[in-house]
Amino acid sequence: MLDWLLIDLDNTLLDFTAGANRSLKAALKAFEIEPSEGNIDIYHTINHQCWEAFEKGELDVDTLRRRRFELFVETLAVSVDAGKLNTFYLSRLSEQTDEIKGARQFLEWARIRYKLVLATNGFASVQRPRIARSQLQTYFEHIVISEEIGVQKPHAGFFDHAFEKMNHPPKERVMIIGDSQSSDINGGRNYGIRTCWLRQAGAKSDTPKNPSHLEVTSLEEIPGLIEG
Ligand SMILES: [Mg+2]
Repeated sequence: MLDWLLIDLDNTLLDFTAGANRSLKAALKAFEIEPSEGNIDIYHTINHQCWEAFEKGELDVDTLRRRRFELFVETLAVSVDAGKLNTFYLSRLSEQTDEIKGARQFLEWARIRYKLVLATNGFASVQRPRIARSQLQTYFEHIVISEEIGVQKPHAGFFDHAFEKMNHPPKERVMIIGDSQSSDINGGRNYGIRTCWLRQAGAKSDTPKNPSHLEVTSLEEIPGLIEG
């Protein structure tokens, strides 16, 4: 039996990938950089490496924000102000609210059965407007954004903060649902709560099978697995 669901935002409820690609293309065009697949791939590779370094504590949040565009501009050898490119990109990104298939229906189902917490790693200036625009806040008792609390998934401090807000329920009555094995699933497992991995096409599981861990390929599968 579960009382609480911690639900990730990006690529779990909202399609971050679609919004990020659209925002990046707009930013590149605005700064007269070819918005080619190749250039976009270069950005994603650099961004991913920067977020990994951030998750390991090797970069602070301001350095992360700045550094990925500095490296991108250096790699492309273009004379563009990385700071301005970053600002333009984040401003567009904060408007993106594409939903993952079945997200709204899943939330409608979940809200009458469980108490929900939105648990997201990200920048407040990007996540808050996206949440407001898509009116997702109406589904959640609490919204936890890593930048606002100074600690991100998978670190225990993030979960400590969420548990404080939930008034410390028994861990076996809490499940995290998310698409990221490194932040959502490893974080949840290490914290001792139940986990549900929303597996994306092509992603391979590195989580041992056990009764407190579920794997699904769509949100629509979850009700049949946790109900009752
Ligand atoms: Mg995610």
